[in-house]
Amino acid sequence: MTQSDKIITRFAPSPSGYLHLGHAYSAKLNYDFALEHNGEFIIRIEDIDHLRCKTEYEDAIFEDLKWLGFNWQTPIRRQSEHFEDYANALSKLDDMGLLYPCFCTRRDIRNEIEESTRAPHLGPKMGPEGIIYPGICKHLTNSERDQKIAEGIPHAMRLDLKKALKLVKEPLCWTDLKTGKQTADPKLLGDVVLARKDFPTSYHLSVVVDDHIQGITNVIRGEDLYYASHFHRLLQFLLDLDTPTYDHHPLLTTKDGTRLAKRNKSITLKSIRKSGTPPDKIDKLIKSYL
Ligand code: GLU
Repeated sequence: MTQSDKIITRFAPSPSGYLHLGHAYSAKLNYDFALEHNGEFIIRIEDIDHLRCKTEYEDAIFEDLKWLGFNWQTPIRRQSEHFEDYANALSKLDDMGLLYPCFCTRRDIRNEIEESTRAPHLGPKMGPEGIIYPGICKHLTNSERDQKIAEGIPHAMRLDLKKALKLVKEPLCWTDLKTGKQTADPKLLGDVVLARKDFPTSYHLSVVVDDHIQGITNVIRGEDLYYASHFHRLLQFLLDLDTPTYDHHPLLTTKDGTRLAKRNKSITLKSIRKSGTPPDKIDKLIKSYL
């Protein structure tokens, strides 16, 4: 399926915790946008991480969304049922010579960074989402790679950004609903992991593949994913996928400026529901955190 004239939005939660008010805000923006444009609102369950995702959370997501008054088409797409789509995308990038295995543990990366900070001119490169992977495994020889694989050392697959960027001949742009034309700067995130050690894809890879397959025309999601969008634009180019229009909405925060998070129990939709708050009070509650 490709993009059509019909507006299609999606709310794509991960069932790794209970939804909170911020999710309700995001879901509502997607729902209302689709409704206003006579479009379609889709729910997608992003459950590739089998260690963190639980049925209990998934059940609660549906209860929360029903309580908020949403309705949606079924069956819904569950990422854990589509690993083949992600494997195909990954093998396309591999065939293009753009991937390399990374055997690093978090500790390896930390050690490398500590080493490099001893020589300050070589200090760690920082991106908007923290330290950029310092490329340790990029420099392994083929036989070193083969040996590690033969030893059964688990590995992730990373995108070789430098090689990928050589294929980009003109600026990669997208339209952001409020801020207009954006030019992607994929360097911001470095050699991103596209297949993790514990499961054979990643958030970044799955999300661009799914948005394309599902014909999503408008991705409305939090500002925290603005830099991810820069990288997603590159993946869309490399994999020849559609680029939706984006909208990055502000995040809900407490009075001291802390972002609402799944671990903060008091603002989960489940607890708000259980406390007897009627769903029509949610908009007001959301505004109080904006
Ligand atoms: N599963 C992601 C999350 O819960 C969705 C991100 C996106 O909308 O692309 O944050």
